[in-house]
Amino acid sequence: MLTVPGPVRCQYARPGAGRYVLAVIEPTSSPLRAETFVVTAGRPARSPDAPLNTPIVPASSFIAGGPMEYAREDSPSARALEEVIGGLEGGTATVFSSGMAAAGAAMDLIPLGAIVVAPSAAYTGVAVRLRELDSIGRIRLRIVDVDSTAAVTDACEDAHLLWLESPTNPLLEVADLPACIEAAHAAGALALVDNTFATPMLQRPLLDGADIVLHSVTKALSGHSDLLMGALVARDLELAERIRLRRVLLGGSTSAFDCYLALRGIRTLALRVEQAQASARTIVDRLHSHPAVTRVRYPEFGTIAAVEVVGGPDAADTVCRSTVIWTYATSLGGVESLLERRRRWDLESTTVPENLIRLSFGIEHADDLWTDLSDALSASLRDR
Ligand SMILES: *Cc1c(COP(=O)(O)O)cnc(C)c1O
Repeated sequence: MLTVPGPVRCQYARPGAGRYVLAVIEPTSSPLRAETFVVTAGRPARSPDAPLNTPIVPASSFIAGGPMEYAREDSPSARALEEVIGGLEGGTATVFSSGMAAAGAAMDLIPLGAIVVAPSAAYTGVAVRLRELDSIGRIRLRIVDVDSTAAVTDACEDAHLLWLESPTNPLLEVADLPACIEAAHAAGALALVDNTFATPMLQRPLLDGADIVLHSVTKALSGHSDLLMGALVARDLELAERIRLRRVLLGGSTSAFDCYLALRGIRTLALRVEQAQASARTIVDRLHSHPAVTRVRYPEFGTIAAVEVVGGPDAADTVCRSTVIWTYATSLGGVESLLERRRRWDLESTTVPENLIRLSFGIEHADDLWTDLSDALSASLRDR
């Protein structure tokens, strides 16, 4: 497991730093490991009778004179969570009401008519929105396969933004992030990485030079499939301030209660990712030799895999409906294992095979997960 390279201790700029109070990362002589940081960060200062946890503060407005003022701009609950997410990624975080609200805020930063390079297999909502913006002339879109660094490099010429996702959803292709980011910068473009699949436990794109990291906090960071949230993390403070202003102006802010739940969830991120990744590795190995499986996709790390099954979409649907521990539902990164035939969605890319099932590993025992999944796969063979 990676350690959070120092600096990791977060502090907030006080008045004088401008209207929008931002987390800044202070150098520390003793960098904490991520496993420690997710537990210790985002807590109130230690003083007698101070609560251990940042309280849920149900306020839209704050008494004038301090740095908060209005909850669309800043709030204690969002701030505590931003301290943890920002520190984990090595930048300054702003949380949004969903991953798509965060993605929309990032797209809003693109100048009129600018060229955006994006993956052929991006998150569906992101792909559809970028195509919409292209079709109305708001941006000019260039689609690339991000596992080809040469293709990414060519596409970056004159671009304003390289939008990366790695591993990709749901084909699990892996981009050479440092090389792609370098290509973007060489062309004068910004690099944004959607780090939802890998999580900062396994990959920290800002440390590879990326300018912005995007998260669907809905997924592994909160980890319990009980809320929607997103985050943008910027490497430099000026960009972070522009991002914060997108939340203020577009209004995609978060509720105090959701921030509390997400913060509670992120405390166990390290444990959950470790357990889910271990199960993914164990089960991917066994899937290779299951007679109902024609292809297994797994990038050798992370908590998401995909299988293609013998037969067409019906066989895949049979698998998804036959499990009792795995749940047939969209989304990923929760404590419970989910599976889904992605092409059931009309908007899913036609490059995704009809018989592909995405697997999101939870934290149940790997042997129980395997028994359930292999039985369901066998059932699909019998039903043919
Ligand atoms: C889910 C997801 C999003 C969108 O996030 P929401 O919280 O559902 O709005 C963006 N990118 C990736 C990779 C995702 O998995």
